[in-house]
Parts: sequence; structure tokens; C-alpha cells
Amino acid sequence: MLDTNDKDWHSFAATQTPEARLLIDGEWCRSDTGETLPSLNPFNQQLVASIECASVSDVTRAVTVARKRFEDGAWSRMPPRDRVRILHRFANLIESCGDTFAVLDTLEMGKPISEMLNIDVPGSILAMRFMAECVDKIGGDCPVTANDALHYIQRQPLGVIGCITPWNYPTMMAAWKIAPALAAGNSVVLKPAEDTSLTALLLGKLFLEAGGPEGVFNVVPGRGAVAGAALAQSMQVDKIAFTGSTGVGRLMYEYSARSNLKKVSAELGGKSPQIILKDAPDLAKTAASVAAGIFGNQGEVCTAGSRILVAREIHDEFCDHLTKAAEGFRPGDPLDLKTTMGPLVNRAHQKRVLGYVSGAVEEGASAIVSGSSHTASPEACFVSPTLFTDVSSDMTIAKEEIFGPVGAILKHEGPDHALELANDSAYGLAAGIWTQTLGDAHKVARDLNCGMVWINGYMNGDMTQPWGGWKESGQGRDKCMDALLENTQTKSVWVTLDG
Ligand code: NAD
Repeated sequence: MLDTNDKDWHSFAATQTPEARLLIDGEWCRSDTGETLPSLNPFNQQLVASIECASVSDVTRAVTVARKRFEDGAWSRMPPRDRVRILHRFANLIESCGDTFAVLDTLEMGKPISEMLNIDVPGSILAMRFMAECVDKIGGDCPVTANDALHYIQRQPLGVIGCITPWNYPTMMAAWKIAPALAAGNSVVLKPAEDTSLTALLLGKLFLEAGGPEGVFNVVPGRGAVAGAALAQSMQVDKIAFTGSTGVGRLMYEYSARSNLKKVSAELGGKSPQIILKDAPDLAKTAASVAAGIFGNQGEVCTAGSRILVAREIHDEFCDHLTKAAEGFRPGDPLDLKTTMGPLVNRAHQKRVLGYVSGAVEEGASAIVSGSSHTASPEACFVSPTLFTDVSSDMTIAKEEIFGPVGAILKHEGPDHALELANDSAYGLAAGIWTQTLGDAHKVARDLNCGMVWINGYMNGDMTQPWGGWKESGQGRDKCMDALLENTQTKSVWVTLDG
């Protein structure tokens, strides 16, 4: 944890006066339409901030500046070691403002402050440091060729990267996008999600404080269909780095096709299976890990292990353990360090998730842990942990991404059947396997159609892990060296030696 446990987070939250204007060319400015977006705390519906809402022309201005800065080389041609120094300073500033990042994301989207301190803030710092360390490790190639020629291949930045991010890990998703884009020498325009803009703006401020040139990193909060669409359709943007839903992800490819065929990387939704084989290790511990995989961050996680595939032989015993583990997740005040589950991001999303819960009952699933909206705190957008058994793979809760604390438990008859169920999905983001049989673990891992697999654990990892999915969970990878290279393009230079 970044901070000691004795901080009064409510008092600290009350002292915050976050910047809520657009950041373009190193200047804080108002939207040219004067429109603002209200940011509401989903725990108590109080206004956190009124955020300037970028128009199409604001976005065009930000992109034009980013392009100009890219061409003038202040960042793109800066000596690599100087870029390393600035990005490390940027990471250090994120660390020294860690409590502010934590409290702002918690106020805007409701996640427990303890998750911010343990996961999001350290993960964001690590992303920046990892990519800073990679700046001068980007190599080219010089393949052996004919005697009368020299062939070398360079990797160069793409130009302007438009980053569009979701609300579920506001700081960390932004860090995963901007760190590789900046490290590779690109300029950036970041459009955060409507519900969570404040930490994106804080990142922009700290980049300048770290010595980043003005106009290299611009932040334009605004509506997806306006500011996001303008960014993704801009003729001056060379790549869209998108994280969000599969539905909006599809639009990114359309925008690209309709404009300049810009590259698109898309980290999209999931419906990830957690497979418990009959010889899973210690069932209580396994259940605790499986529960964290579906209830952590209120289930608002792309890799949420929302399909729980349990061997018939241990089904009832495992469900008892899982039910107990679910008790560890109680909705509460997200600014209380002891809280393990906060409210969902907003009222509309709460309604949507509760709709899945009532729909599951209508489709014949049985609730062993019944989720509700906690009528005792009607102002909070709570949905408590929910677990359904008697689920079949054709039911809506087994197919669609719910993005809330709702787990669907399906029985399987052994590794082959578990694989069949696991792969029966339009998504292919991640999966977990619990077993003590080495061969089964590796065979199932090999045959799963998804981008990430965890064995006897869930959602652990570091910056070396290529983060991304197969099928309708997207293309491209966050974290890892690949993410950096995806922000570059190759140039082949062929030299005729005896010309
Ligand atoms: P979303 O798709 O609604 O929004 C994502 C971003 O796209 C936001 O900034 C939004 O303003 C913008 N947007 C919306 N409509 C747009 C449009 N027409 N044109 C351009 N931009 C537009 O997603 P969300 O609700 O913010 O986030 C939840 C989703 O994100 C879930 O599906 C989740 O699985 C996914 N996600 C995926 C990963 C991953 O790594 N695969 C990580 C986190 C979240």
C-alpha cells in the first residue's frame, strides 16, 4: 500500500480541487461550446466536478497541436536518454501524488480506496517505469543480404496516437495506453470515459511538470459519440489505442476505414471462464481466489471470471466454499479502507446489472447468493455479490458480459467438457484453471481460445504479460514490449553499395 492506514480519506477527499478543464498545447482551456459534464459520486450522488466537455473543434485543435509537436521533433527526436529521464520523473510524480489519484478515481467511479492503493496506483507507476526503461531498447535489424547491398530496418514512432479509455480502471488504463505511446516517441491525445476524467487530466498536468514538452500529451474529456468519434475519425491521427466495450470497439474499425485507415488496437470485453477441475487444490483457497476473480472491483473488470465451470463431483462442496468467500465482499463506503466492494459506476449501469439478475431467474437459474441493490442505501449504486447455479451455456448470463458482481456456475464432466464450455463464447480474453494435475493444466491452457491463462490463481501478473484477447475480445496488446512496438512502424532502407 502506498499510504499508512491512518489517513482520514474523507477529509483528504474534501480538500481536493482537481483540474477539470481541457489540456491542449500545455494550456488549460474551456470547451469552445461551454458545455460541461457532471461527474457524480456513485456512492452518494454528490457532484464531484463539472468537467469541460470537448467539442469536435476542441478535439481537432488538440490533434493539430499534437501533429505539429510530432513534426517539430521536440519529443519524437529528443535523445532517448532525455526521454527516459522525463518519463521516470513522470512516474515519480505519479507516485508522489498516489493518494490524489486514489481518491479521485474512488470519488468518480466508486471503487474501494484500498484497491486504488494496492492495484491501480502501483500498476500505473509500474507501467510508466517499465516503458521508460524500454525507450532506448527499441532496436532495428540489419539482415544478411546480397554482397552489393546493405539492408537495415528501423523502428520509428507512428505520429499521433489517440487513446480512448474506459471508466473501470481510469488511471491504470490511461497509463497502459500513454506509457508505450510516449515512450516510442509519439504525441498523444487522450479521451477518457465520461464518468472518470479527473485522473486523466492529472496525468496531463504531471507530464508537463516532469518536463514533457507542451502539446505532446493533450487530454480532451468529452462524450464518446462526439469527442471520441472525432478523435477516431481524424485524418491526422495515426493510431487509435482503444479500451472499452466490444460494441464501441467495432466502431473504431469503421472509423478507421472511413478516414485514413489508421491502425487500431482494441482491448475489449470478455466472459472469461474459471475452470475448477475435480482435483483443484485446497477448495477454500481456490474459492477465495475465484470469488476475487468475479467480485473484485465490483465485477467491473474486463477479465472478470464470470463463468465458473465446476467439476460435477465437487460442485456442491465448492459452491459452499464460494458462498462463504462471497461474504468477504460487502458493499460499503469506498473511502473506508476496510471496504471490499463499492457501488457500481452509475445508476444506469446498476439498473442494467440488476436486469441481468432478474433475467437469470426468469430463464431458470437458481440464486445461491442473491444480489440486490441494498435498499438501506438507496443513493448508492450498489449491487451485492450474486451467484447462480443451474446455469446452461445458452442462458443470457452465461453469454453476455454483465460487468458487475454476478457469477454463473456451470457443471462440467471433466477437462474435455470444461474446455468445450470454456471455448463456447464469442469472447476470448482470459481464463483460469485450478488443478493439481500438471498434464491437465497445460493441456487445457494450450487448448483454450483466449489471450491470457492463469493456472491455480487469477489475474496475477506484471508488466511482462501481453494483455489482450482473442476473438471478439479484441486485437493488440497492452503492457509488455509488444505494446511498445505496436506504437512504432518499421522502415526498410535498402542501400545499393556499388551504385
Ligand atoms: P465503452 O465502450 O462504453 O466506452 C469506452 C470509451 O469509448 C469511453 O471513453 C467512451 O466515451 C468512448 N466511446 C463511447 N462511444 C463512442 C463512440 N461512438 N465513438 C468513440 N468513442 C466512444 O466502455 P466502458 O463502459 O467505458 O468500459 C467497459 C468496457 O471496457 C467493458 O466491456 C470492459 O470489458 C472493457 N474493458 C476491456 C479491457 C481490456 O483490457 N480488454 C480493460 C478494461 C475494460
